Amino acid sequence: MGFPVVGIVGGGQLARMMATAAVGLGVGVRVLAESPGSSAARTVPGTLIGDGADLDRLRTFARGVDVLTFDHEQVPTAHLVRLADEGVVVRPGPEALVHAQDKVRMRSRLTAAGLPCPAWARAVDADSVAGFAARHGWPVVLKTTRGGYDGKGVEVVSSRDQAVAVMASLRAAHDDLLVEQHVPFVRELAALVARSPHGQAVAYPVVESVARDGVCAEVTAPAPGLAEATALEAARIALGIAGLLGVTGLLAVELFETAGGGLLVNELAMRPHNTGHWSLDAAVTSQFENHLRAVLDLPLGDPRARAPWTVMANVFGPVDPSVPSMYDAFRHVMARDPGLRVQMYGKEPRAGRKVGHVTAYGGDLADTRERARHAAAYLMGEIDE
Ligand code: ADP
Repeated sequence: MGFPVVGIVGGGQLARMMATAAVGLGVGVRVLAESPGSSAARTVPGTLIGDGADLDRLRTFARGVDVLTFDHEQVPTAHLVRLADEGVVVRPGPEALVHAQDKVRMRSRLTAAGLPCPAWARAVDADSVAGFAARHGWPVVLKTTRGGYDGKGVEVVSSRDQAVAVMASLRAAHDDLLVEQHVPFVRELAALVARSPHGQAVAYPVVESVARDGVCAEVTAPAPGLAEATALEAARIALGIAGLLGVTGLLAVELFETAGGGLLVNELAMRPHNTGHWSLDAAVTSQFENHLRAVLDLPLGDPRARAPWTVMANVFGPVDPSVPSMYDAFRHVMARDPGLRVQMYGKEPRAGRKVGHVTAYGGDLADTRERARHAAAYLMGEIDE
């Protein structure tokens, strides 16, 4: 039919939801997944099993696809440079993606471009961390340059002694560390944009994201009470970064909002992002579809919300092992609220693992929030009726 095939490296829920969007568009989709049990491998026929860090496996996978894209950042940049040199279309390209993989590269580039970031430095040893803290104050935040996700690889440190211990444990996983000022933010925002190779870009409404134990738990679109000027500034920052780095596909910019409406960039992701899951059921074009459109250089879809308020709540595997099957709870939340959208990822509900999300949208923020919170809590066995 002349429709292209998109290859997604990584078999998590992001790949699964991208694959569903690909079905809707009628484009082909292939997945390179870590294991046959992974979220996308369970739904995408012909999934290749293999490690995205293995160059030969990547090369084999790339042979059957028109464009290569990602569900996560854990693919060595050097492999992608190599594949691109061999003629594989990689989107986002490695020279852009490295800024979502390497926090020092990201901080250096954004700071040089005058984009607002927390004060930061390379953390060479405990003395350099103490020196940084002498200028910016304790506590400081130590981070691994690569490999962090969901708050892993990020530690708040209040003294030189603590820095020594934390640096040793972080270095066990990754060599290079950076130190940042501890930002007294009032909340975390995210600005998502999609950008295509010929430079078309669209911006989603700026959202508020609330984390629980370092993991995104709830997202509200648009961010309640956000001043219009701040929302415009957040979108301007995200569009500016997408253009500066030549991002193709989705770009999520995590931001800190400080007292008085100041904004600082926390980190970048170049793929669909948890803070954009609300768009699957409550935007005209979801982030998953716009990521595919962007990497295929198709015209982008309207990113606007369908309702004044949308609240997305993540569903985690129940911590309490005595909680009965989630399927019973599933039936209950559907019966209670037919307007609620429930998305499950086909993952075993191990304690604390992200296994799905729910989305409510409507005209009243408090009511919308209550519907999403209630459903997520019920599915996790945290409340009973
Ligand atoms: P990850 O790569 O694991 O997502 P992040 O850099 O996003 O790591 O940090 C995880 C969380 O830690 C952030 O969402 C924020 O709540 C907190 N955090 C990170 N950097 C800072 C900072 N400089 N000041 C204050 N809090 C921070």
